[in-house]
Amino acid sequence: MQRETGAGSGPWRECYRQDEIVAFVRDHSALLGLISSLVDDDECSFDHHGGCQAHGFLSLEPGEMCPNEEAKRLIEEARR
Ligand SMILES: [Zn+2]
Repeated sequence: MQRETGAGSGPWRECYRQDEIVAFVRDHSALLGLISSLVDDDECSFDHHGGCQAHGFLSLEPGEMCPNEEAKRLIEEARR
């Protein structure tokens, strides 16, 4: 994004042009929509190696969050 100094009043407006903000929000919404259509509602099912059997992330380290759960939380947080 191109920086612009002294324009507008808010912190966003000082750094970014209006059309850049619109494009950012549009891309962000599109990505969130895409992620939410890919996320599986089923709960994770961890094996004794720490991998999630339910979502096929078998090489997770013990205690590491499954990307499916991470995506769910991300969407939930973004919709608040
Ligand atoms: Zn999972």
